[in-house]
Amino acid sequence: MQPGSSLRRATETEVIDRIEKTDAQWRAELTAQQYRVARGRSTEPAGSGRYWKETAAGVYHCVCCGLPLFSSDDKYNCHSGWPSYTAPIRPDHVAARPDDRTGTVRTEVLCARCGAHLGHVFDDGPKPTGRRYCINSVCLKLVER
Ligand code: FE
Repeated sequence: MQPGSSLRRATETEVIDRIEKTDAQWRAELTAQQYRVARGRSTEPAGSGRYWKETAAGVYHCVCCGLPLFSSDDKYNCHSGWPSYTAPIRPDHVAARPDDRTGTVRTEVLCARCGAHLGHVFDDGPKPTGRRYCINSVCLKLVER
């Protein structure tokens, strides 16, 4: 996907075409860590990823399918060890669902196109949204502008 083309002005009627691949296909296309986190719903260790301190301007795309997910304009440093954003680049580019695997109910964030696990969203973010999208670096690919 070309960086420019992905930033075209989307219309309200835009529909995200789902990408469906087999587990074997994802395993072949991704690195072991990308596969473990993005397809296996795991979490990279805090502070281990490449983007949590990143300050370059650009768009963060899904590492699995290339869909634009987050803008550096919405990125902030919450000192958690994971890249954090106040909002997705478009509301319909991410999906959410309850995740109670750890005993506490969190809200899992997924890529709306390929279903990749991205991280979780919390309600303790800064204004104006009050949201903190806590995302694994390994699930993202930054395209700088
Ligand atoms: Fe994706």
